[in-house]
Amino acid sequence: MTRYEPECIFCKIAAGHIPASLIYKNDHVAAFHDLNPVAPVHVLIIPLEHIASLSELKDGDSEIAAQILLAARVVAEKTGVLESGYRLVFNNGEDALQSVGHIHAHLIGGKTMGWPPFAGREVAHGEE
Ligand code: 5GP
Ligand code: ZN
Repeated sequence: MTRYEPECIFCKIAAGHIPASLIYKNDHVAAFHDLNPVAPVHVLIIPLEHIASLSELKDGDSEIAAQILLAARVVAEKTGVLESGYRLVFNNGEDALQSVGHIHAHLIGGKTMGWPPFAGREVAHGEE
């Protein structure tokens, strides 16, 4: 049984009900450009099924979990950052500033990044 949340923006994108700049899709996951990119390459990889966060992943979701990671290589290749490097980020829960309650991996690349990730100014997504 496919999990679908009618109010979820990423469920709507996965189902093709609202448009997104799609890079890759298979039976388990979809990847599309982030609406507000933070780097030259900023792609979101989502499961087609609604799972609210990593904390909601169940043992039975192992194929979906693997497919998200496997899609990262495909996306990195398609966006030209396979050799230069990229970062895969899952914001999970409030402290991590997760703003959309449907699992998504941010694949970010195309520039040299900093570490650790909280060293910068503390802002929420969308703030100046
Ligand atoms: P989070 O803050 O939950 O880790 O990341 C959510 C991401 O989804 C943000 O980077 C935001 O820019 C992106 N986003 C939110 N709504 C949409 C949308 O409708 N389309 C696309 N392509 N990205 C979105
Ligand atoms: Zn959803």
